[in-house]
Amino acid sequence: MDRRIVIIGIDGLGYKYFTSMFKNYMPNLARLAVEYGIHMIDVKVAISPRCWTRIFAGVDVQWYNLYIKRVRDDQWRLIRYDEIPVKWIWDYFPQIIYINVPVVLPPVSNVPDFRPVAYGLPYTFFEAWREINTVRFCARKYLEQDRDVICCFTWVDRYLHINRPNMSLYRLLHEMDEVIRQLVELATDFIIVSDHGMKLVRDEPAGEIKPRHDMPYIRTVTKAIHDHDTDALFISSLKVRPQRLEDVFTIMLNYFKTKYH
Ligand SMILES: [Zn+2]
Repeated sequence: MDRRIVIIGIDGLGYKYFTSMFKNYMPNLARLAVEYGIHMIDVKVAISPRCWTRIFAGVDVQWYNLYIKRVRDDQWRLIRYDEIPVKWIWDYFPQIIYINVPVVLPPVSNVPDFRPVAYGLPYTFFEAWREINTVRFCARKYLEQDRDVICCFTWVDRYLHINRPNMSLYRLLHEMDEVIRQLVELATDFIIVSDHGMKLVRDEPAGEIKPRHDMPYIRTVTKAIHDHDTDALFISSLKVRPQRLEDVFTIMLNYFKTKYH
């Protein structure tokens, strides 16, 4: 049988939260962590699109701090995918399927049958649930066709921005854990990686989101319960130990070079 890898990106699933608390609700990921080892990557600057660009292009684009960019005084717009001056891992190997990768908003995919949930900003329980299961459906389909698949979940970051750890979060983590089990089982190799962790910054039960005045199809966090932390997480069957997010790119590059050249 040909080797086949699934790379699962989980935005905001930090090493510290996972190893201290979330592992109790994620038995499959906890088992993989015990079996293959779990590593913390100190990302230094915990900014989602920039961290994902370090992972999927191996380059730290210094100016890339937000998904949006100011055009004049009170007018902002989204950064476009073609404005980021990098070559992505899937540009080197067009055979790779990628689904819901949040290097920009909305997240990018190269399959016709996937649509990001809520523009890549699933803040509510039901949006998170829908993201987990639309990613599941699509990633399973291509793994079953023997393709290499990169797929990402964005909801952990979004959900924690406006919630404390609560029963709904644990229910969602448990659902995503089952999806991880299914996807890992369909592949011969796997990488599970996050872009950064999350830390509690406000002692209130819930935060707030509001539609942006200039882009009402996007909601932004106006009161945050969690902020980003610098502890990314890495688990893989490949017996490697990345020190930086760029190393995760090199690991993927070497894997695909061996497979396709
Ligand atoms: Zn993030």
